[in-house]
Amino acid sequence: MTVPLPTDTTRWRCALCGNLTRFDVTRTSKVVEYVHLDLAGESNIEEREVVSENIESVRCRWCNAVDQVELVDRPGAGS
Ligand SMILES: [Zn+2]
Repeated sequence: MTVPLPTDTTRWRCALCGNLTRFDVTRTSKVVEYVHLDLAGESNIEEREVVSENIESVRCRWCNAVDQVELVDRPGAGS
């Protein structure tokens, strides 16, 4: 089962324990970075563009349930 992505008006909620705020998210992403090196060879990433991103799993920090998140309305969203 894929994890539902939160939107502007919804948020995650653990379906088992009701946790709304703490999750471990396993994510794979493809990123292009602008790496700027100084003359001493120290590198600094000045820009980062996410080309694609995929959430593989979400684990609840409270009860350790994996991929048991559901979407609920954010406070103040909608009506
Ligand atoms: Zn939970």
